[in-house]
Amino acid sequence: MELQTIVPLNNPIDQRGDQLEQLVRQMLIDQRIQTPINSMNVLTNVEKTSKITELVQQIMETLGLDLNDESLRDTPKRVAKMYVNELFQGLSPESFPNCTTFDIKEISNVTQTNIPFTSMCEHHLMPFFGVAHISYQSNGRVIGLSKLNRVVNYFARRPQVQERLTKQIHRALQLVLQSRDVRVIIEAEHFCIQARGVQQKGSKTLTEETSGMYSNSKFIQKL
Ligand SMILES: [Zn+2]
Repeated sequence: MELQTIVPLNNPIDQRGDQLEQLVRQMLIDQRIQTPINSMNVLTNVEKTSKITELVQQIMETLGLDLNDESLRDTPKRVAKMYVNELFQGLSPESFPNCTTFDIKEISNVTQTNIPFTSMCEHHLMPFFGVAHISYQSNGRVIGLSKLNRVVNYFARRPQVQERLTKQIHRALQLVLQSRDVRVIIEAEHFCIQARGVQQKGSKTLTEETSGMYSNSKFIQKL
């Protein structure tokens, strides 16, 4: 079955981060594009950091490294903190940004290009990084421009595949903006292609999600 690219709109919506996160999460589940998250895992961030520290230590010891070495001693804790607080911050529902929107009378088109992000490929836990380009036509509401960056960042900061990342940002913005007219393009370089496997540098992967007025003007087809 073809997945719906339009999310149900039920204006008005609550703009607070925690309320929006619940709406967005349920919508992603309904659309079958939610990140595979085990809802039974209820560890706090402090508990996650402590457990991951132990596990990274085990990986390093298994590789034959001496963790008594001054340079390596704190690496497990550093990696654990980086995972929980930075690279995988978008697994914590409370990281979802507040998305205040402003009512406007006239219809307007907004495009924001080159929104930088860093994500982690969920197949190798290696970084992929690049930029997102977002266009939308306001449906009586506009959003603070920095919020577009924050929504991109929220979904990038979790184990991802680029196609799903593009879809999640697209659907979340439809819901936040209460507009069907949204386009999201992502250009990214995947470190797992550069550092392992074919070991090629410089190739970029492009993905695009469109709906509403953008459906018939796909950017990627013009390449
Ligand atoms: Zn990969």
